[in-house]
Amino acid sequence: MKRLILILFCCITTAAMAAGHKAKVVTTFIDNGPKKVALTFDACQSKTPAYFDKSILNYIIQNRLPVSIFLSGRFARQNEAEVKYLAKNYPFIEFENHSLDHNNHMERLSDAQVIKEVEGNEKLVTSMTGRAPEYFRFPAGNYNARDLELVNNLGLKVVHWTYASGDPDKHIGPVALENEINTMTKPGNILIFHINGRGWSTGRALPEITKELRSKGYTFVKLEDVVK
Ligand SMILES: [Zn+2]
Repeated sequence: MKRLILILFCCITTAAMAAGHKAKVVTTFIDNGPKKVALTFDACQSKTPAYFDKSILNYIIQNRLPVSIFLSGRFARQNEAEVKYLAKNYPFIEFENHSLDHNNHMERLSDAQVIKEVEGNEKLVTSMTGRAPEYFRFPAGNYNARDLELVNNLGLKVVHWTYASGDPDKHIGPVALENEINTMTKPGNILIFHINGRGWSTGRALPEITKELRSKGYTFVKLEDVVK
């Protein structure tokens, strides 16, 4: 009897490990050179209305900077006309899935609620942009193994970031942010910023950040071009 229990336990553990192995979070991409880096921006909104940070958005557009923007459903609805306009006119801006309501603890939701958060926003963003997002980013980066499985089963890859830039911190000024990126960034990194008004110094730091990275030989890529 003891042996049977042990065998059963081993089988369950192996199955769980296999499932866990399959579902993973992408935090870097394979860079076969020349040096590449992915600039990603979260456009989050939960309850308080949020809008595009114009200093960041204008810089992206003027410089035709390839970027990936993770949209929450509430933010997308709040800024519907702008999202549609950007998707239609600027192919270097890619829109991805950041959940419907931006619940900071999706691991506390039921299976059905998680699926609604992911699938509901997938449909919303697709209807606005004409392209189905390929990647999902968990609000506040919180998730558990079940969440990963559910998102993967919906056909999406979970993409987070290589290191946090810290741009939602009011105390990090543009120079500190530039220095952080300059020191930390390596080829194949996925950088994260906020374009919803909560990346306090990002708009002021972005020109210098991109200039420094370019001077080191980096080019910028959208996630869809490098995360397969
Ligand atoms: Zn967010």
